[in-house]
Amino acid sequence: MNKSVLLIYTGGTIGMKQDPVTQVLQPFDFEHIMREVPELKKFGCKIDSYAFSPVIDSSNVVIEFWVELAQLIENKYEQYDGFVILHGTDTMAYSASMLSFMLRNLEKPIVFTGSQLPIGMLRTDGKENLISAIEIASTYDENNHAMVPEVSVFFQNRLYRGNRCTKYNADAFEAFRSPNFPPLAEAGITIKYNKKDIIYPKKYGQKLEIFTKVDRNVAVLKIFPGIRKEYVRAVFNTKDIRAVVIETFGSGNAPSKSWFMEEIEKASKKGIIILNITQCLAGSVNMSAYATGQSLKESGVISGLDSTTEAAITKLFHILGNESKNEIIRRLLSKNLCGEITI
Ligand code: ASP
Repeated sequence: MNKSVLLIYTGGTIGMKQDPVTQVLQPFDFEHIMREVPELKKFGCKIDSYAFSPVIDSSNVVIEFWVELAQLIENKYEQYDGFVILHGTDTMAYSASMLSFMLRNLEKPIVFTGSQLPIGMLRTDGKENLISAIEIASTYDENNHAMVPEVSVFFQNRLYRGNRCTKYNADAFEAFRSPNFPPLAEAGITIKYNKKDIIYPKKYGQKLEIFTKVDRNVAVLKIFPGIRKEYVRAVFNTKDIRAVVIETFGSGNAPSKSWFMEEIEKASKKGIIILNITQCLAGSVNMSAYATGQSLKESGVISGLDSTTEAAITKLFHILGNESKNEIIRRLLSKNLCGEITI
């Protein structure tokens, strides 16, 4: 039976057009994309479209946008076999991470894609990305189970788990990388699926669950040599803050100066959750490796292991939005909820 895909256009370079006077790129309407990719009509599956209004540059993504997107998918979930979301690359990894926490019991593919060059341009990467994303979103196996029932990102021949990738290059067509987790699929002459790393439902036929409660009282503190006490203090004393992601050196190390550790301890005692992730693009936090990490651990800092910044922030948004007890929050942060960390 022919599969059906809902193509959701939220904005981003893929659909942008150059203003003839200022040369600035501005989001354009969805018809423009359909006109530029007549190949879409040749697909063996039914493709319907839905455009956000207004379409946005993804730098303008807000929490309400994620809620709208999750609710749209929930409302259309029974009608379609797969979903492709056209989204700006700038915050695509945040949106894909957030949606992975918001949509649970997924049995259908949700594929984010976009492009570095607008779809109307001669050398655009948008066509390839869009066509492969639709193919992936409509691919089911011989048991009629989706090949990739996850929130994913397709970019330049690779399909990544949404909560494992990060925007890596502002210019190249290889805009994304997933340094700590292998691609879920690679597109060459055929699309090869990496089935051993794809998360499949333990039991089929479960109802899609959506979580739209989000608490954004989260901050990120990137550590650097020479960091000032006032700055660290200001972050931990931000009004209503409930959690701080600290981006530390190497395998999770931070300065061992007494003023720094005192700020961490004070915040921890106040009940602020502190999640430690590394500034390195690849690898994991191991707070037992060096004394500078060990003291963080002793102060109650939680290891974010090999989480991306995008996954750490959105995981906190999600957990804080749904839980009030620190004990439960800490336990959930250490758990692999939907493939975002390696345990
Ligand atoms: N600024 C654009 C956006 O994220 C960039 C892109 O689409 O690649 O919406």
